[in-house]
Amino acid sequence: MKKAADLIDSERRLGAHNYEPLDVVLTRGEGVWVWDVDGNRYLDCLSAYSAVNQGHCHPRILETMREQAGRLTLTSRAFRNDQLALLYEELAALTGSHRILPMNSGAEAVESAIKAVRKWGYEQRGVPDGEAEIIVCADNFHGRTISIVSFSTDPTARQGFGPFTPGFKVVPFGDADAFEAAITPRTVAFLVEPIQGEAGVNIPPSGYFPRVRELCTEHDITLILDEIQTGLGRTGRLFAEEHEGIEADVTLIGKALSGGFYPVSAVLSNDAVLGVLKPGEHGSTFGGNPLAAAVARTALQVLVEEGMIENSDRLGSYFLEQLRGIRSDQIKEVRGRGLMLAIELDPEAGDAHAAVEALKERGLLAKDTHGSTIRIAPPLVITREQIDWALEQIEAVLA
Ligand SMILES: *Cc1c(COP(=O)(O)O)cnc(C)c1O
Repeated sequence: MKKAADLIDSERRLGAHNYEPLDVVLTRGEGVWVWDVDGNRYLDCLSAYSAVNQGHCHPRILETMREQAGRLTLTSRAFRNDQLALLYEELAALTGSHRILPMNSGAEAVESAIKAVRKWGYEQRGVPDGEAEIIVCADNFHGRTISIVSFSTDPTARQGFGPFTPGFKVVPFGDADAFEAAITPRTVAFLVEPIQGEAGVNIPPSGYFPRVRELCTEHDITLILDEIQTGLGRTGRLFAEEHEGIEADVTLIGKALSGGFYPVSAVLSNDAVLGVLKPGEHGSTFGGNPLAAAVARTALQVLVEEGMIENSDRLGSYFLEQLRGIRSDQIKEVRGRGLMLAIELDPEAGDAHAAVEALKERGLLAKDTHGSTIRIAPPLVITREQIDWALEQIEAVLA
């Protein structure tokens, strides 16, 4: 077997350098743990950006993957398969959504929602053709396609990739007055994350989303919540919107929808928005394939049946409380909901990248974001003992 250094060298030589990973080469995972090629064990506190909420290589999802892969993997949507309808039924029952569009990556779900809601605006709201506006938030993260980076406010995500897609307006996150002021008769949707994940776990002020919901209803604007990272138990609820006491018109999910086995995403919608799509107007070769549908069905089942959402709620509160108890000159703020946590360092006193490297040496994998914030988001199957062990490592590095 090639050594870690050789593998890293080949990646550097042959791969596009669009990521800057930590130099840890993983080869195996089980539950909250991953192992590198040298046999070192790490507690995964990133969970592939919340795609492995169910834990690495969950045995029940693995069993479904194996069984379905040996039976039927891809039919295209030119024909029907016997798994997609069951995924629809189970998703609808779990989430209360009326129409579902299956896609693959999160970015595709976002793109699909943008297409559908624009068409809804023209057909149902009477917005003049080509003039639909969608309001989004500063510091958003919705993916990497041209249209999505068109409304990013992160220069690194945008620089050099223009010309951009028009039709988007950016307002500050957490400011309902700014949202209200940006509304025009051509506004068809507000696309927003319930908690901004990539921006560093930004939690909006209480009252923000209820007011946003009111304004959307009043102006007949579709509220699209991007729950690709916050959804499926990450924040201690099935959806983060539940913390706000609101319901979106359209919800985007991905990542943990497959428990990390396979790219599966979906647009969950009321009847009106996805109802505008007619045969031939939108599609994906792999979207809704039987392997994806079967894996997603089991990924949802284990999330619910094995109490992972409750575990996220209960142990997330414990983790947050204990993190807040760490005495350190480096820590500026600790925040989070469920097991979506962040430690923000004082940039004068601490360096998040150095802290993440030091945590890796102690067997804990986490990711820094924007230089000064460390995100902590372990699989939702984590135990109190494992959290206590993680806390020891974090305290040793930061205190
Ligand atoms: C990860 C993420 C996406 C994009 O998902 P991909 O599968 O990487 O395309 C979109 N929105 C949010 C909030 C995300 O966290």
